[in-house]
Amino acid sequence: MRLYNTLTREVADFVPLQPESVTLYTCGPTVYSFYHIGNLRNAVFNDTLRRSLESTGYTVRHVMNITDVGHLVADEDDSVLSEDKLEKGAKREGKSVWEVAAHYSEAFIRDMAALGVLPPTVNPHRAKNSAADPYARATDFIPEQIEMIAALLEQGYAYQTKQAIYFDVEKLADYGKLSGQTLADKEVGVRDNVVTDAQKHHPYDFAIWFFAVGHFADHSMRWPSPWGDGFPGWHLECSAIVHTLLGDPIDIHTGGVDHIGTHHPNEMAQTEAAYGHELARIWVHNEFILVDGAKMAKSKGNTHTLKDITDKGYDPMALRLLYLQAHYRSELNFTWDSLSAAQNTLLNLYAWVDLKHQTNLSEVRLSDDDISSFIDRVMAALVDDLASSAALAEVFRLSTSLAPGMTYAIEDFDELARKLDNLLGLSLSNRSDITKEQHQIIADRESARAVRDWAGADRLRSQLAKHGLELSDTPNGPRWRRTTT
Ligand code: AMP
Ligand code: ZN
Repeated sequence: MRLYNTLTREVADFVPLQPESVTLYTCGPTVYSFYHIGNLRNAVFNDTLRRSLESTGYTVRHVMNITDVGHLVADEDDSVLSEDKLEKGAKREGKSVWEVAAHYSEAFIRDMAALGVLPPTVNPHRAKNSAADPYARATDFIPEQIEMIAALLEQGYAYQTKQAIYFDVEKLADYGKLSGQTLADKEVGVRDNVVTDAQKHHPYDFAIWFFAVGHFADHSMRWPSPWGDGFPGWHLECSAIVHTLLGDPIDIHTGGVDHIGTHHPNEMAQTEAAYGHELARIWVHNEFILVDGAKMAKSKGNTHTLKDITDKGYDPMALRLLYLQAHYRSELNFTWDSLSAAQNTLLNLYAWVDLKHQTNLSEVRLSDDDISSFIDRVMAALVDDLASSAALAEVFRLSTSLAPGMTYAIEDFDELARKLDNLLGLSLSNRSDITKEQHQIIADRESARAVRDWAGADRLRSQLAKHGLELSDTPNGPRWRRTTT
């Protein structure tokens, strides 16, 4: 497998720390609103990475967090005058922060299932041994975060003011190595109108613990700590969760490109300072989604959710296919037209795998290749820094190269669909047949055609259209294709 590492700025062969298993950590959602198509791209990118690693033969130990505390609206500055996103969501919706977190976590988990995104593999509920969902919530790791703060304070990497405990970025020589931006570079960009804690040593020092005082006196999520009641800063949870559930260093850490500047450097800094080694060997980031060529913003009304997409009649898999058609490191411009095109392509792929239900499969075969060499080519594309569009091109080539008079076994077809699903997650396998009644209409139409009853045959074709089935006549008999997924 070859992967682009943001840290070294090059594509290199991936060699895990353990020969057969890979540790993977993914920064997850802040559950104060629905995931939008940008966040969903990140989820599908992670999932493609995970599936590619597993198909290569690795056992992947995958952890993803859910941020349910500490992520401030102004996390760039860590301003103690900012607001926790969860508290903001609670005010907006007249609910408790816990209700808001539960509501959007459930929505997120439903979206993941609809998009065919595999859940994390490491159970974060280790003490409770619960069968609850496998996402690691920040609020379930408060003692571990407090332990990390203690280690950072003890080793002189953190200091306390009246309002917060901060990580002292100047103590770490290579802070900012991920973005290649030194502290001096960053300082030029510091906004001087942001009022923050006057006791802060450096503008880029970030809070690892906020005290429930001043602006945060009414903060509803709070825990006791040796230094005073409060709540953890956003960056800390990822370092603490990795340390607890996977053990650092891990092999691969992922996120969107927006994390290269602040969140990931801060995660790195915490782990390096507390434990004396790096957090992750490889950092992989997905590029952003644009909508109609513009940045997404709530104010523009273009932050579409999966529900917006399904409400318009699109299948979540059409969105997944749209993502896979682009490389994860390229910006992807979302338009409704591009989603329509992806849905049509998906229907073509489904029509291809639905061939196994058609009366006569004898004309179907895999050109000159056998299944394994085809799957090998799809895999070869994916393991080349997740070239998903090249992998799909192989699939399209195969699905459109069916020629009359060739043989192909139904079992092979099932195996092929299953293998492709393992790699691409597009739900090509286990598709149901049409109903007996629909098969009968097709048979009746054939009978009508046999006696040259063209009007009757057309009527039956229209009847099939009402069932969402499109019919075409081939030298080998009629073929149906679904017009909806
Ligand atoms: P958040 O809930 O804002 O922390 O975002 C969850 C994930 O989605 C993070 O990995 C972000 O980097 C990623 N992300 C946020 N916005 C976009 C976008 N417009 N395009 C692609 N990924 C995004
Ligand atoms: Zn993170």
